[in-house]
Amino acid sequence: MNNKTPRLSLPLTLLMIGLIALTFVPFKVFSQRLSGTELKNMLSHPELIREVTIEVNANNDAGEIIIFLNDNKSVKATIVDIPQYELMLEDMGITYTIEPASDGFISMLPTIMSILMMFFFLMMILNLRGGGGGANAKLMNFGKSRARLAEDSGVNFSNVAGMEEEKEELKEIVEFLKHPIKFRDMGARIPKGVILVGSPGTGKTLLAKATAGEANVPFYSISGSDFVEMYVGVGAARVRDLFGEAKKNSPCIIFIDEIDAVARRRGTGVGGSHDEREQTLNQMLVEMDGFAQNQGIIVMAATNRVDILDPAIMRPGRFDRKVTVGKPDVKAREEILRLHAKNKHLEEDVDLRRVAQTTAGFTGADLENLLNEAAIAATMDSRELVCQRDINNAFIKAGIGTEKKSRVISERDKKITAYHETGHAILFHLLKDVGPVHIISIIPTGDGAAGYTMPLPDSEDQFTTKTQLKHMMMAAMGGRIAEELICDDITTGASQDIKQVTGIARAMVTKFGMSDEIGMIYCEEGSDDVFLGYDIAHTKNYGDNMLSRIDNEVKRLVDESYREAKKLIMENMDVLEASCKLLIEKEKITGEEFAELFSNK
Ligand code: ADP
Ligand code: ZN
Repeated sequence: MNNKTPRLSLPLTLLMIGLIALTFVPFKVFSQRLSGTELKNMLSHPELIREVTIEVNANNDAGEIIIFLNDNKSVKATIVDIPQYELMLEDMGITYTIEPASDGFISMLPTIMSILMMFFFLMMILNLRGGGGGANAKLMNFGKSRARLAEDSGVNFSNVAGMEEEKEELKEIVEFLKHPIKFRDMGARIPKGVILVGSPGTGKTLLAKATAGEANVPFYSISGSDFVEMYVGVGAARVRDLFGEAKKNSPCIIFIDEIDAVARRRGTGVGGSHDEREQTLNQMLVEMDGFAQNQGIIVMAATNRVDILDPAIMRPGRFDRKVTVGKPDVKAREEILRLHAKNKHLEEDVDLRRVAQTTAGFTGADLENLLNEAAIAATMDSRELVCQRDINNAFIKAGIGTEKKSRVISERDKKITAYHETGHAILFHLLKDVGPVHIISIIPTGDGAAGYTMPLPDSEDQFTTKTQLKHMMMAAMGGRIAEELICDDITTGASQDIKQVTGIARAMVTKFGMSDEIGMIYCEEGSDDVFLGYDIAHTKNYGDNMLSRIDNEVKRLVDESYREAKKLIMENMDVLEASCKLLIEKEKITGEEFAELFSNK
């Protein structure tokens, strides 16, 4: 890399920044920005206020409130719930005007354009002087990707414990990166992008790195948030640079961590960086579409939320593979512990299997951290070996410190969850319209559920029948019923289920005309209007008599499903017990394993 970087660039940059700042002065300086509470305070003094302007953003969901005071000063604040402020201002008798925010922006456009032109002109000059390679100049580093090329980290699949299925899915990618020619000659189409989905710390980065290591190819890693800068266009330039670099070194892997920072569904979120993000995303899609199928670049991306991703990135020829990286089950946790214990000196009394059993909900990173804390404690104690007590202490510390992230689960909770989930599963299995069972798990999920039962309905019918709805209600009640049958007491764990059951029953009665008693009448409550402060009576399009008939009918439907569901579970108490035992042992069982319990009868 040449070092003739012009020192000149620093003063010039400062000059530029000064110029830019100056042009913004008339627009920004005279309005002091208020916090939410300050704004509330200000609005409680209408006597100080002359008039108010609200500038609404393009999405109509947020804006700036600008308050002109009697002493000719003005203050402003960002607000989201604009109708609420309108009501408030009306109540206080303050005159206000609403205008789209873009007006202000458009009037500034010429200024901005000319500044940008000067800016790029300058960059060009600097670039020429620096002989095109002035990579040290900060100014020119803007468009350079910040991707780091990992030195050969020596990580391969043997460094990833558990995750057998995930590794299996990635083997194909490894093969392709190793022998791209072979695949090309065969005319095989190979995926370009793989998206890894899982909670933080489950080992997504590790897995991507290991894939590169296994195939022995370069690994470029960058985080989605590195792309999203405040200067429009920089992100896109970085993407171009990154892919350019990768093409020169193919076959290789590009890893984009936190891809949701760039690839969020277009048109969501509040804030000014939309355009920037969209441009970056578009550039990424262009690059991915642009390189030929077999050019030897695999883009791997990680996220913990697929639901907020722009569907465009999942289209064929882009990220067409999805690998879900779940939290490890008992067996995987033991393997991870063993792997990380390798370079630590453990006392004889350490029982890693036992540790694995007590750490349900921990991710790989949590487990690594656990052993690390234990090792630190031993060192602080000037001992040579880590003992079980160190691990127990670290466990308590981790359990309290990261309570939300990985709740430590008691044996009792585990048992209740196992019964609860099996209750759902038995019904999913028996009721053909909603099943069969795909997976039952009592590993807590990131969003607070203690476990889950995933059905895999095999029909793709568009309409839902009355029988299906009834079966859905029954399956949802299975959890609570199992708790009732086994434990002497019931828990609060079933509230989501109860909500779902009630929701279905109410919809059957008031929307789908599925109750003979009520008939074909549509009577949905206009819940939206309630928030606008209208009297609730205005929004009800049926009388009190009807209201109580609906409630009775909903209750009747719920009770009926409950009775039928309970009967089915009571006929299968042996399965309930067997499955619960299996679940406590393995934490996650497949649909096949579960179905086997039935055939053993
Ligand atoms: P993510 O990218 O999903 O947030 P990382 O890949 O950064 O998670 O994982 C953090 C650390 O946790 C890894 O460096 C590794 O030490 C440990 N880890 C996570 N999963 C595993 C696993 N399956 N085997 C071994 N170590 C793991
Ligand atoms: Zn449930």
